[in-house]
Amino acid sequence: MIVLGIESSCDETAAAVVRDDRTVLADVVLSQLDEHRPYGGVVPEIAARAHLDHLDHLVAEALSRSGIGLAETDAIAATGGPGLIGGVMVGVMTGKALALVAGKPFIAVNHLEGHALTARLTDDLAFPYLLLLVSGGHCQLLAVEGVGRYRRLGATIDDAAGEAFDKVAKMLDLGYPGGPAVQRAAERGDPGRFALPRPMKGRPDCDFSFSGLKNAVRLLIADQAPLSEADRDDIAAAFQMAVAEAIADRTKRAMGLFAMTYGGPGALVVAGGVAANAQLRRTLTDIAGQTGFRLVAPPLNLCTDNAAMIAWAGLEHFRLGHQDGMDFAPRPRWPLDPQAKQLRGAGV
Ligand code: ATP
Ligand code: MG
Ligand code: FE
Repeated sequence: MIVLGIESSCDETAAAVVRDDRTVLADVVLSQLDEHRPYGGVVPEIAARAHLDHLDHLVAEALSRSGIGLAETDAIAATGGPGLIGGVMVGVMTGKALALVAGKPFIAVNHLEGHALTARLTDDLAFPYLLLLVSGGHCQLLAVEGVGRYRRLGATIDDAAGEAFDKVAKMLDLGYPGGPAVQRAAERGDPGRFALPRPMKGRPDCDFSFSGLKNAVRLLIADQAPLSEADRDDIAAAFQMAVAEAIADRTKRAMGLFAMTYGGPGALVVAGGVAANAQLRRTLTDIAGQTGFRLVAPPLNLCTDNAAMIAWAGLEHFRLGHQDGMDFAPRPRWPLDPQAKQLRGAGV
């Protein structure tokens, strides 16, 4: 079984071809960094136009690199949300058009499910597993019970982890994109020079919060101004360590819940762009060692946005008999766990 995948929910335009024996036959990603850099963040309208300009030739490129003709694919998958609606519309329309032309089934994939199932593409991994999803727009701990079956254990009550990295990078004038820039500065800095809070540490739930930490960084910068190069590096290092340790504390809590619910420790999968952070990976390796969990961290290029994860999630759905109609409407919001949210709303 072979699936063509399309991703266009944020600022990466991507196409990939994946086979059910977990082979990535082609994986093409075009990042729009240069288009958005002057604005210090992603501009939705510019993103949508760039997807429109590039998606066609990226799909052609992915097919040609894979050596697979459109007619030999079994299904076409495209990100159906959540994300910037203009970009998602471009991907969904392209996916539907290709499916119609080739007479293939169309599958709309939840972008977050793409991140969530990537570890089953890169590793021999069975359900259930514990997922730490840390990306530009999301920060959640979920029990993944099966394809399309997610139970939310905790989530951020304000900013996402990636958002915090991006904002701190802006405050420190480290450039765009923020996460990798903070990591580079942090590698030169001393994480012990400044004390920053570990938000939510020790709380009995599995929720996250990053806005207080972000504010603490803002105050620290004001206090130390004007900043030398070394000050910048030390603040970046202190911030990165605070994020990694805060996430580790929340994740440890979720590991306890997971072990209680599913009869023991299992795999901890880390996904999303912030999963590329080296300090976070080191800290998670430590807590996995302490708790008996196996840490599964996909390679960096499959942590940040890509279409291989969309093709794979589409394939996982397709082999269970799922597909979508031509009337599928792009979804700017699409939580992985609607039932769990209702339960939380009902005070359970
Ligand atoms: P979502 O998946 O929630 O819709 P998104 O697709 O924009 O959001 P991703 O592409 O998964 O998010 O991840 C991008 C985020 O990851 C950005 O916030 C970026 O700063 C962060 N990031 C990337 N590399 C690193 C790194 N090395 N350290 C910390 N953060 C990083
Ligand atoms: Mg991106
Ligand atoms: Fe993403």
